[in-house]
Amino acid sequence: MENVIIIGTGCAGYTAAIYTARANLNPLLLSGTQPGGQLSTTTEVENFPGFPEGIQGPDLMMKMQAQAEKFGARIDYAKVEVLTKTAAGHFEIALEGGRTLQSKTVIVATGASPRHLGLPGEQKLIGHGLTSCATCDGAFYRNVPVCVIGGGDSACEEATFLTRFASVVYLIHRREELRASKIMADRALANPKIKPVWNSTVSEYLTDDKGEVRAVTLKNLVTGAESELELKCVFVAIGHVPNTQFLQGLVTLDENGYIVQTKGTRTNVEGLFAAGDVADHVYRQAITAAGQGCAAALEAERYLAH
Ligand code: NAP
Repeated sequence: MENVIIIGTGCAGYTAAIYTARANLNPLLLSGTQPGGQLSTTTEVENFPGFPEGIQGPDLMMKMQAQAEKFGARIDYAKVEVLTKTAAGHFEIALEGGRTLQSKTVIVATGASPRHLGLPGEQKLIGHGLTSCATCDGAFYRNVPVCVIGGGDSACEEATFLTRFASVVYLIHRREELRASKIMADRALANPKIKPVWNSTVSEYLTDDKGEVRAVTLKNLVTGAESELELKCVFVAIGHVPNTQFLQGLVTLDENGYIVQTKGTRTNVEGLFAAGDVADHVYRQAITAAGQGCAAALEAERYLAH
């Protein structure tokens, strides 16, 4: 029986591991299918405190892993299929491949995955002119055209933020009315640098000889006409999908599938804590996820002490 199992190895999971390991709880981390989480797919991270010159996302995650392992955290490169709580009060974790683990507490730090369009070659372009995070990558695209795909609050927020850097921000939306709240939609549409492209979707990414995005093929969904739009980066803002499928009714989720935190990182299930993007669709930053990982570790430690 483990004391603490941490599911997920992004910023929240590694931080929870550092704290629980230093508290002598001998944590076990389950990495899932994307060790290192979302930062392992980004390039330079300039806003994580302590790295004034910036740091590559994968390097930051390797440092966090090394720090957790230095204090004795163990990592199992396994994917969780189902998490349940037994009548005896502990947790059972069924892993892909048939193994089962047991733990007194669980910290869920499985994050959320940005939704993508599903176009061919899309995954390979992430970090090469395709991203889902304007806060992370916007500053790399100064005085060049970029686009944001989506019509929700995220798309409007990202587009507005990007006007600080880009020469023009095309806001590509599949309808002719934004889903975003009025205030955010009005702010975006009033910005002279934001050019809405209505009733349209991106049907293809076009790359240069270095494999970086140089343009997209736009498809007008009303007329069916296709055209080429030159730009340097595509910011996809069509929502995130929280990675909560394995919870299967164990814990309360909100209408979008995010874990509901009852107090701090606690959930409605005793001994089960949630940290980072799996419970946070508002801030979604590496540093806020790390902060929640720390809080969840302290909560788990207190729970075990009682
Ligand atoms: P969202 O509200 O679900 O909007 C997703 C947008 O992407 C919609 O406009 C949708 O189009 C479009 N879309 C979805 N799938 C698509 C596809 N396959 N191809 C093209 N377009 C597609 O997601 P969100 O903007 O990330 O917001 C999520 C939640 O966080 C919301 O509750 C939002 O209010 C909240 N949020 C709040 C703030 C804030 O208050 N500061 C900031 C960001 C997010 P349709 O409109 O046609 O469906």
